[in-house]
Order: sequence, then C-alpha cells, then structure tokens
Amino acid sequence: VTPSRLELAASLNDEQRAAVEAGEGPVLVIAGAGSGKTRTLTWRVALMLERGVPPEALLLLTFTNKAAREMIRRVEELAGGFADVGRMLGGTFHHAAHMLLREHAGALGFSTDFTVLDREDSRDLMATCLAERKLKSDKRFPRPDALLELVSLATNLQQPVSQVLVERKPQMLPVAPEVFATARRFQQRKAQMHLMDYDDLLAHLKRLLEEHPVIRADLTARFQGVLVDEYQDTNRLQGDLVDLLVGERRNLTVVGDDCQSIYSFRGAEFTNIIDFPQRYPGCGIYPLTRNYRSTPQVLRLANAVIARNTRQFPKALVSDGAPGPVPQVVPTRDVKGQAAFVTERVLALRAQGQRLESMAVLYRAHLHSLELQLELARHGLPFRVRSGVRFFEQTHIKDALAHLRWAHHRADELAFKRLARRLPGVGAASTEHLWTALSSLPPELPLGDALLHPDVQAHVPRKAAGDFQRFQSLMAALTRGGPRGPGALLADVLAAREAQEESDAATRRTEDLRQLQEFAERFEDVPRFLSDIALVSEFSAQGALAGEPPDDVLTLSTVHQAKGLEWASVFVLGLVDGRFPMSQATRSPEAEEEERRLFYVAVTRAREALWLVYPHTSLPREDGRLLLTPSRFLTELPQGPDTVCDTLPPPEPDGPIRVRELGPDPEPGF
Ligand code: ATP
Ligand code: MG
Repeated sequence: VTPSRLELAASLNDEQRAAVEAGEGPVLVIAGAGSGKTRTLTWRVALMLERGVPPEALLLLTFTNKAAREMIRRVEELAGGFADVGRMLGGTFHHAAHMLLREHAGALGFSTDFTVLDREDSRDLMATCLAERKLKSDKRFPRPDALLELVSLATNLQQPVSQVLVERKPQMLPVAPEVFATARRFQQRKAQMHLMDYDDLLAHLKRLLEEHPVIRADLTARFQGVLVDEYQDTNRLQGDLVDLLVGERRNLTVVGDDCQSIYSFRGAEFTNIIDFPQRYPGCGIYPLTRNYRSTPQVLRLANAVIARNTRQFPKALVSDGAPGPVPQVVPTRDVKGQAAFVTERVLALRAQGQRLESMAVLYRAHLHSLELQLELARHGLPFRVRSGVRFFEQTHIKDALAHLRWAHHRADELAFKRLARRLPGVGAASTEHLWTALSSLPPELPLGDALLHPDVQAHVPRKAAGDFQRFQSLMAALTRGGPRGPGALLADVLAAREAQEESDAATRRTEDLRQLQEFAERFEDVPRFLSDIALVSEFSAQGALAGEPPDDVLTLSTVHQAKGLEWASVFVLGLVDGRFPMSQATRSPEAEEEERRLFYVAVTRAREALWLVYPHTSLPREDGRLLLTPSRFLTELPQGPDTVCDTLPPPEPDGPIRVRELGPDPEPGF
C-alpha cells in the first residue's frame, strides 16, 4: 500500500472513492454543489499517475486557468513524489486549444506564431469590417458587439450564422444579407492576418482534428486520460472537442452539476451532461450525496431554492457539517446602505480574527459593486475584483503591447492602427492612408525605413510631425538588430514614454507599465508573451494595494466568476427584482430558471455565514427615490427560525418615493 492509498481512504467517502477508483472508460459524476466533485477529479488524476499513466498523457480541462493551477498544485501534493506533475496539460479549453495549435497550426495553413486576439481587438476588427462596407454610420445596422455575439454563438453552437440569426437575433432579419457578408468578411480578415480570436482557437482545433486524421490519431494516442470539471457549462463545440480528443479509448471523466449550468447565453448546453450516458453507452455513473462545504442551514436554503426549478436531474444532498448561523436577509435603504452594511460587517469579522480571504461579496454584474468598491477603499480594506477591469485590458497597457505586436508582425494592421490613432493629430483618415502606403512597400524594407519612406511621410499630418518622428525612431529601435526578448523591448517603449510624459496622471500608468515590463522579463520570445497575455484572465496589478499583505484581501466577484469556489462568509448583493433576476430573464420560464441556478450557485459558495442583501430604494433622484422590489428569489425562501432570519423591516427612506418598474438598462445606483 503506497502512502497515497492510505490517505485516499481517509480523505474520501465511499461514493467519492468509487468514482476515483473506477477503471478506465467513461465516468460521469453528476452531483450537487459542494459534494466533492472537484476533489474527486483531483484524486482520480493522482491515482491515474500512481497507476503509471505519464503526466503528459493527461488532459485536465477546467473552467478557469486558476482552477487548473489549484488542482495541479493539489495533485502535486498527492503524486509529486512519483510523477512530474508539471508536465500535465491543464487549463481552460482555450488554453489547451492554444497549446495544441501552437504545435499544429501549420497543418491549417497558419503560421505557428499566429496572434491571439482578445475581445477588444475583435471588436476593433469587426468595426473595421463595418467601416469598409460603409455600414458603420448606418444607425439601423447592428453594432460590432452584436455582430460579434452572433458570430461567436454560431461558432460555439456549431450552427450556421443564418440559423442563429433567425432563432436568437430575429431583429437582424431585415439586414440579414449585409450581416452575413460582414460576418464572412470578418472571418476572412482574421485568416489573412494570421489572427485567431478565442472562439477560433476552439473552432480551428476542431477542424484540425476532423480534417487531419494523422494528427488526430497522434493526439488521441497521446492523451490516455481526459478529465473535465464543470462539464455542465460546456457548449456544443467544447463537447465535440472532448469527444474528438478522447478517441477510441474513451477514457473520459466528466464531473458537473446541471443545477449550476449558468452559461446558456454563451451557448452552454447542459444537455451535454444529461445526455452523456447516451453518447457514452456503458459509462459509469457516480452520484455524490454528501455536502462537505456548507452548514445544514446554508444547505437547506440552497436546496429549497433549487427545488423550484422544474428542469433538473434529480439529486439528493445532505449536509455533513456542524450547525452554523442562520442565513440572513438584510434590507438596506439603498446601495450606499448596502455598501455600508457589508463594510461594517467585514470590519467586524476581521476584528474577530477572520481573514479577509475567507470572505467574498458576490453580485450579478460588476456594475453593482461600484458603490462598495468606494466604501471599501474609504475604509482602507484591500479587495480584489475577480476579472473586473483587467490589468491587461487597460488602454495604456494595450498601447504598449501594440508596439511589440507590430514590431514582431508587420501585417498586424490592428496593432499599427492602434498606435497611429494615439498619435496626437493623426485622425482616422490619415491612419487609413498611412496603412495603405505602408502595406504597399516591400516587406524586406526595415520598419524604421518604411516609416521614413516618402509615400508614407506624405500622409503624416503636419501637426503630428514631431510625434510621428518619435514613433518612427522607437519602432526603428524595436526592430533593429537581432531578436530580443519582450522585457528588453518593453524597456525601450517605457524609456521613450518617460522621456516624453511627466504629468501626474501619467505616473500611475507608467507604474503599470513598469510592472508589465517586469512581468515580460519572465518570457523569452515575443509571440508566446503576447498570446499568453491575450489569454490571461486575471492579473490584477499586484502591489496596487501597497502596505497590505497581498494574500489577505477580500474577494469581490460576479456570481459567474465565483463558480467552483468557496468562502466561510459570503454576501450576495443587489437582490432586487429586475437586477437579480435580471429583468430580461423574468420574461421566459427557461431564462428565469437559469437565473435561479445562478442564485443557487451564489448561495452554495458559503461555508458558514450567508447574508442576502438588497437595497429598499434607489439612490435619490431629482424627483425622489424609486421603490425597489425585493428579488423574487428572496420571497421564495422558506421562512422559519432555522432557515432564514425573520426579515427585518426596511429602513425608512428620507424623502418621497415613487413606484416604477426597473428598466433593462444598467444603472449603478439602481
Ligand atoms: P462545486 O459544485 O461548487 O464545484 P464540488 O462538488 O466540486 O463543488 P469540492 O469543491 O470538491 O465540491 O468540495 C467542497 C468542499 O468539501 C471542499 O472544501 C472540499 O475540500 C470538501 N470535501 C469534499 N469531500 C470531502 C471529504 N470526503 N472529506 C472532507 N472534506 C471534503
Ligand atoms: Mg467543483
């Protein structure tokens, strides 16, 4: 008996152990929140390694890269003694697809140092496609975001754009032919420039597997085991990819909970998990029925919530924990009162010795947290916003990176245009002319010389001459001599910037850039650096919270981003009808059930204490306050001494109140 076997007996219950020890072949674990699905998956990986499967033969697909890192760390603890766990391929579908395409994109006619576009880049490109067709200024024509969503849904659902348009975006029907043409143009432009957006990573991998049997055979032989967490949120494309990658061996383990399926707006289909036994006949089905996360009080509330949904796979869930505090519904006067309540409670908990990292505040949309962010900052409470404004998505960071992108890849039109646009005095028209001139010059001409070429110079507006000349010398410096690492290149960008800007507002941005430059030092080659950044989902500028130990911070997160995680104390904010559930979601039973699943995900993140908070009125407006309706999910909660604390009366408002239904538009103060 190896040590891990001993620990296995002690750390898993019989149900979990049965799933962990199941032999090769398809395995489905479908069970409620906090029942140990992720733990079971982790152990199964460790056991496969112990049975001699080489780590590089395992593919672990998770919902975030962070979740994958956490699981790999745990596997390392269990199996590090006999396996080089770092060689495992683990992460999101996008991450895995990216890794595999870096090896094989050549077969699809792509260069293997293709560039990955993030969402903002995609939007720019779509806007360019619209501008080219002179549709941008047409007010009746869909915006770039709406078109992107359409294209993205079509890819993820694996349906023709026309079908998605008819079924999900009927408002676009009157302009359908132009929409199709623009969508086609968008796809062609990406291919021409060797760019892939997030969806393309998956779509191209699927095409690779379908059209190149030799590569597919190679990959299915390589992956002896494929394991997927949060399988309920896979969409059609991801489901197909898994099926293609497991091949004949069918050694696939999926775990999930249909009641936590919350991504149908992105095309997730929980039928993937429900139909798994039909797609993999003979699969082992392992239920887990003990909840180890939450107190019986939290669990009773959660079970009552989800029992209202009609569409679900029947599951039992009993608590294993000791009793705890009764969950509380907290009415506050408005969002300011809500923020004050949370801040005060967090301070009190910290005074009692609870760490901030064991607490989280969850809400439906980031916008709902702005008031709280201010209040926390006023009290000097450090917090981390899970994928709020992301460090790498800030304009000044993207501008700096665009220098590297263009220096590295001359055909990257988006990078050039981003750089040109930020030169004072260079407008949209000059940018277009400059690009046309630049792209008709021979590509062997060094970039620095190209920018000096008379054909190019002819389009530099006179008032931009000085800035353009600085830009030219920076680009010349970046492309001169042999290849250099991203750290060295960014140091040049930073130096050029510092020579120029001295204003106060610029210091924070310069500080961010320094951090970026430091981060870049860890990479050797530019393409890998750039695409890793495009994929990073959360890198908040470390050190922004000077003076606080960076590991002890309060988490602020949307419910979507909190999936799979847990905290001792959880606050759910903004429980107002029309916000959570969203007003759009109350119009169809399916949409309402999805919002209820989201609420179920929110409450099941709590181990011990749970506060369900809502503002009673809006912030004062010119004509008084709006009366808000508590979320229907709150009124559905079973009342009773041990289920939820008797609702306190809402505080008296300080002025006149009006009654009006909330519109669908976002309003931070409701
Ligand atoms: P979710 O549905 O939210 O993703 P899950 O089913 O993946 O939840 P885990 O996150 O794996 O559940 O486990 C929930 C908590 O219960 C974790 O803190 C985990 O360590 C603990 N846990 C799970 N199984 C056991 C066990 N057999 N003994 C003790 N603790 C356990
Ligand atoms: Mg989990």
